[in-house]
Formats: sequence, structure tokens, C-alpha cells
Amino acid sequence: MTQRTSPTPRSCPNCDGFASAAITTGGRNHRGHLHTITADCPACHGTGTRTTRRNWEGARV
Ligand SMILES: [Zn+2]
Repeated sequence: MTQRTSPTPRSCPNCDGFASAAITTGGRNHRGHLHTITADCPACHGTGTRTTRRNWEGARV
């Protein structure tokens, strides 16, 4: 009955749950909106949660 309980929380340790960040590039597009780009955490691919290890590691760096 020794279940493997992970001591780490389920949130991604790389981004601590903040998987996506909107970054303003400082400019505006032709409609006057702020031009933002969304950066996803490369570790969790923008999910904010860490899935099973073998799911992502090995598939892609
Ligand atoms: Zn992450």
C-alpha cells in the first residue's frame, strides 16, 4: 500500500502556475490596440500544471 505521493504541488514548478504571460511589445496595431504577445511556459506548455513526467519529457525539449 505504498502509493507514490508526490511532494511537489501540481502546479508547474517552472512558472508556478502562471503559464501564460501577455507581454506588451510597446506598439499598437492599426486599430489602436496594444500589441501583445502571449508567451507560454515551455515546461508546461501554457497549462500551468505539471502533468506526468514522461508525457512531455522526451517528446520535446
Ligand atoms: Zn509552466
